[in-house]
Amino acid sequence: MRIAVIGTGYVGLVSGACFSEFGVETICVDKDQGKIERLLKGEIPIYEPGLDALVEKNAKAGRLSFTTDLPAAVAGADAVFIAVGTPSRRGDGHADLSYVYAAAAEIAAALDPDDYTVIVTKSTVPVGTGREVARIIRKTRPEADFDVASNPEFLREGSAIEDFMRPDRVVIGTDSDRARQVMRALYRPLFLIETPMVFTSLETSELIKYAANTFLAAKITFINEVADLCEKVGADVHDVAKGIGLDNRIGKKFLHPGPGYGGSCFPKDTLALVKTAQDYGSPLRIIETVVDINDKRKKAMAERVIAACGGSVAGKRIGVLGVTFKPNTDDMRDAPALDILPALQAAGAMVAAYDPAGRHEAEKLLPGVEWAADAYGALEGADCALVLTEWNEFRMLNLGRLRKTMNSPVLVDLRNIFNPEDAEMAGFAYHCVGRPGRV
Ligand code: NAD
Repeated sequence: MRIAVIGTGYVGLVSGACFSEFGVETICVDKDQGKIERLLKGEIPIYEPGLDALVEKNAKAGRLSFTTDLPAAVAGADAVFIAVGTPSRRGDGHADLSYVYAAAAEIAAALDPDDYTVIVTKSTVPVGTGREVARIIRKTRPEADFDVASNPEFLREGSAIEDFMRPDRVVIGTDSDRARQVMRALYRPLFLIETPMVFTSLETSELIKYAANTFLAAKITFINEVADLCEKVGADVHDVAKGIGLDNRIGKKFLHPGPGYGGSCFPKDTLALVKTAQDYGSPLRIIETVVDINDKRKKAMAERVIAACGGSVAGKRIGVLGVTFKPNTDDMRDAPALDILPALQAAGAMVAAYDPAGRHEAEKLLPGVEWAADAYGALEGADCALVLTEWNEFRMLNLGRLRKTMNSPVLVDLRNIFNPEDAEMAGFAYHCVGRPGRV
């Protein structure tokens, strides 16, 4: 089988590499010439563990290739996956579908009328988008033999390859038996390992993705609010999370408190679903509240740091560990750091930071931040250490040595990666989220 994947970002590149690993001849397309040039040289434009080896292996085997030439990639493909970005539209929070529709129009123009093709939206798109993609293609090429399908992606950055190769489920939405057969053939290796498959309508599939992401955002927001209550009543949120998470109806995952969810998906997808629901006169008030709480939470985190520093950070030096929205990625989209660090700077702080993979992206978004080569460098002479991302390498830091490099012993751990007793033993005033600190 042969496929084209349009967009070589976090989803397109991983999906393309994984399909080629399944044995499918895959051509990845991007309009960003710089990205394609790097990929052709064997360089990976994003940080995703294991992706370099997977791309190299399949490119060498001749199953995976890269191009900016969309028509050449689309002609003769059994399926064309649209994996372009769907960011928030400026001003109103709806998903911006201009990249999806532009890709659909380009695909339409390139379809080979003698070949049947399935056009698949892998991007996260609101209900109705698949039908509009079909309309665009039919209008441009009335004679084309095609169907549309929705196949939302559930991979997580940082563990994207494993998530794609061993997903909890695959969701495929289409009205066409023929398209279903093509999708079944493409995912054959996952059928063999008995991955649950949900075959459904286009609309249902589109909604499943948003319902999943907004549910997870609500779960995080729930535990964040419980953490705030724990602080007031002297309870420990980790024990609460364990105590409720062991109930299978609740589940253990996504019950870790922090500075508020961020990243390339939850913020934009919660907003987009809120907008869709309002448009259809069926508001999702619970998600509207989640969005509001999370926005306020990210902003309130700078206040926590200021309070931990005695009420003012003017002229103080804050050493930051981690700026990406989560570990094992270089993705800075909607990272809490983008709210917290500028607020600290505005309050007069000097900010130095270290991140194992995010510096390149973060430098463009966080002006005035000094960048250190490692964690100890970021904390040298600092009046406060601030943990924003739970990279594994931070968990192993020598707290005694950190303490000695700093000017004053204040540690604000918004990911709860340290043990309060250890922090206290090292001489820190330790502030964390939802459990008794040691101040
Ligand atoms: P991204 O911004 O990293 O990549 C999108 C790529 O598409 C860019 O390289 C861009 O140059 C390219 N592109 C845009 N228009 C194009 C066109 N007409 N022709 C060729 N290339 C084009 O985006 P991403 O993070 O991979 O997300 C893609 C979609 O997948 C979004 O809808 C997102 O919500 C969804 N998604 C993302 C994740 C994630 O963890 N990042 C997970 C699941 C779903």
